[in-house]
Amino acid sequence: MSRCMNLVGGIKILNRNFFVKIEASNVFLKKTYSTRELLKEAYCRTKLKCRSKKLPQDVNPKGVFACNELDLTEVKVYGFDYDYTLAHYKPTLEHLLYNLGREILLEKYNYPAEILNLEYKPNFAVRGLHYDIEKGLLLKLDSFLQIQFGAVYRGLTPVTTEEVLKLYKNRIIPIAYVEGDMRAHKANRAKMVHLADLFSVPEMGLLCNVAEYFIKNHIDYHPEILFLDVKNSVQSCHPIMHKIVAQNVEEFIRPNPSLRKYFQMLQDCNKKLFLVTNSPFHFVNAGMEMLVGHDWRDYFDVVIVNANKPKFFTEVSRPIRVFDKNANTHIWEKVTALQKGIIYYEGTVKQLQDLTGWSGHQVLYFGDHPYSDLADVTLEHGWRTGAIINELTHEINTLNTQSFKENANWLQMLTQLIEDHQDYKEPEAMEVMSQWMAERDFLRNEIKAVFNPQFGSVFRTYHNPTYFSRRLFRFADIYTSNITNLLDYTLTHTFYPRRGVMPHEYGSYFV
Ligand SMILES: [Mg+2]
Repeated sequence: MSRCMNLVGGIKILNRNFFVKIEASNVFLKKTYSTRELLKEAYCRTKLKCRSKKLPQDVNPKGVFACNELDLTEVKVYGFDYDYTLAHYKPTLEHLLYNLGREILLEKYNYPAEILNLEYKPNFAVRGLHYDIEKGLLLKLDSFLQIQFGAVYRGLTPVTTEEVLKLYKNRIIPIAYVEGDMRAHKANRAKMVHLADLFSVPEMGLLCNVAEYFIKNHIDYHPEILFLDVKNSVQSCHPIMHKIVAQNVEEFIRPNPSLRKYFQMLQDCNKKLFLVTNSPFHFVNAGMEMLVGHDWRDYFDVVIVNANKPKFFTEVSRPIRVFDKNANTHIWEKVTALQKGIIYYEGTVKQLQDLTGWSGHQVLYFGDHPYSDLADVTLEHGWRTGAIINELTHEINTLNTQSFKENANWLQMLTQLIEDHQDYKEPEAMEVMSQWMAERDFLRNEIKAVFNPQFGSVFRTYHNPTYFSRRLFRFADIYTSNITNLLDYTLTHTFYPRRGVMPHEYGSYFV
């Protein structure tokens, strides 16, 4: 600090020939400064400016954020997904899914018994990553399909940037590789799988643990087969998981006493409520009884279980059935009206809309999955959408720390400093510049690792939105960490998006 003060104090740079004049005791001195000194002076001046800048205010972790203007006065019908939208799970659920999946890998797929010793590593992966089924890598992509270097793993081992570039030849991945190409004469299958679901986090944990075990023990494996075995194992244990959770709801579901208040508020204002979930009735019922009370169904005008989203939103010919909870099966009779108090099974959004008359922008549907909950309802049916992204609590609390604010602030200013001085090509300037670049890399990693040491923020790569957040912002009108954050807003509230800053607007006012 003091070094910076000495260099800056009393010096005025006149031009790029590095001549400065210092006025002291009425004597004019002329001194030539080297490029190195000039750059150091610029660095110090920027650092002082950075320190004098007021840090931004804290963001409210319970805020509701708007991607699109949404006037709640227009919303007459509130729809909800269940898992990770109304019910938030404790980390015990991830452990349970991991352990059940690991057992099935052994029993059904004959994996080596030693994998039983591989314990779940919570917080290894985050939602929104891609798995490359050809190369066997777990990695994070940004909204431009660029790989985030430093966030590529084979098993539990980071893959160096040199190796990543060697494998992909480029940091930008072709769209057909990531998403498939349906335009091709013979459709090309995507080589990457986007893990956009919170249930996929323990799957990724198991996948990476087993891959690491294979690599360490020199056991050959095919990345796609391993991926499918793990996926099928974890997903096929969902019925067992449903039974275990339904019998011990307190152990797995986080209580939310405000949920009943929220439903009550909606009901008191004559809003219609419906639930469309892929989960079975006994599981949802146990959770909702704990979260809301035994009379939870009194709040809902329509309840549909085993909905099989996204097909519920995309198909037109799957009949809706009445579910007989006593017989634990559906009844074959044709459904001609939807009644409160009855549980429905499967069906399609078309039948839901036809039988209720609910459609378009009067419906606001909340879900946690950008594709299976939100994409089709907004793109095809014009419903308004709310995303419940539980990770926001951790992300916002991290943004609010003093050290994050200071580092992010300095990173911005240091990057600008590098950009402004990049044309100095003398060897001594290049040396200073490489020090600045090294500091920038260090800062970028610092502000990445505070979110998650391996993969960083769910929402950002170093400077761009992630692939996941671009999808989310495209399909969600509003997003928040918990459905009950909406209690802080009236039912006539309009959510206004912030006027976003485009790259050409940064220097402008009124953005
Ligand atoms: Mg869900």
